[in-house]
Amino acid sequence: MDPIISGVDGNASVFIIGKLGGDPEYNSIIDSEEVDCANGTFYFGRYSMNETHNIHFNVPGIWRFKAITEDTEHDGEFCSSEIVEVEVQFPEITEIVSAVEFQLDQLWSSTLSAASEDSRKELGFWIYAEVDNNGGLSYSVGETEEGDDITDCSSRATISPSDPEELIPNEPWNTVKFAVAYAHAHTTLYYCPSSIEGRSTGPSEEDDKFANSRKLPILVYDYSANQIYGQDGEGSELYNPAGIKHAGECMQRSFFEKWSSLEESPLSPK
Ligand SMILES: [Zn+2]
Repeated sequence: MDPIISGVDGNASVFIIGKLGGDPEYNSIIDSEEVDCANGTFYFGRYSMNETHNIHFNVPGIWRFKAITEDTEHDGEFCSSEIVEVEVQFPEITEIVSAVEFQLDQLWSSTLSAASEDSRKELGFWIYAEVDNNGGLSYSVGETEEGDDITDCSSRATISPSDPEELIPNEPWNTVKFAVAYAHAHTTLYYCPSSIEGRSTGPSEEDDKFANSRKLPILVYDYSANQIYGQDGEGSELYNPAGIKHAGECMQRSFFEKWSSLEESPLSPK
C-alpha cells in the first residue's frame, strides 16, 4: 500500500487504519503516537511516509484502508489519504483440491476399505486454510468423520459434518484457521447384490443444498462412471476410476461481510 497525501512532508509519519466491509473511521490521534479508532476500524500501525511497508490482514472480505497524517501547515490538524479498497477471497476449489490431493485420495481408499458384505459408510473431513501472522498460508484437513453404518443396499449413505474447528482472530493480523471446504466420499456398491437398482454417482441433491445454503464448496469423491451397480463382491470394479466433483454452485466460501460476522456462525445455513 502506498499512501499518498498531497502537500505533506515526505518525512512525516502516517497512521494506517482499515475496516472490513466499510469506510475506516477514527476519533482522534493520541499524543501523535496512536490512533483511537471508531468501532469496527483497526489501527495497523505508524509508518514513515517515504518508505513502503507491508501490512498483514488475514481475514477475507472487502477491506478499506486509509492513511492519516499530521498537517504540517496547520498545527494539530490531521489530513487523510483517499480510501484504498482491497478484496480478499477465500481460496477456490482447484487450489484447495491440489493442496490436499493426497488426503482426498486417502479418504477414498479408506471409504473403500470401510465397505464389506455387512455394511458401508461415508467418510469425510473439513479442509482448513491457516494463515500465520507473517502471511504464510498452509492447508490441512480435520479428523476423518464417519456417517452412519448402512446395512441395507437399497438405502443411500449420508454423513453430517461436525462444526468446523476454526481459529477466529481478535485482530486482523493474528493467525487464523478457516474452514474452506468440506469433503466426503460416497460408498461403493461392490459388495451389494447385482440385483439392486444401483445409484447415480456425484453430488446428491442434499449435497447441492448443503453447499448452496452455506455458500461453501462441498467436495465429493465418487466413481467416475455416471452410474454404479452391485457387483456381488466379485471382479475388479471396487477399484474402478474415481475422482473429485463438487456440489452446488460455490467455487469458494463466501467472505465475511463485516468484522462482527466472524463471531456469528458463518457456516450455518443462510
Ligand atoms: Zn454426498
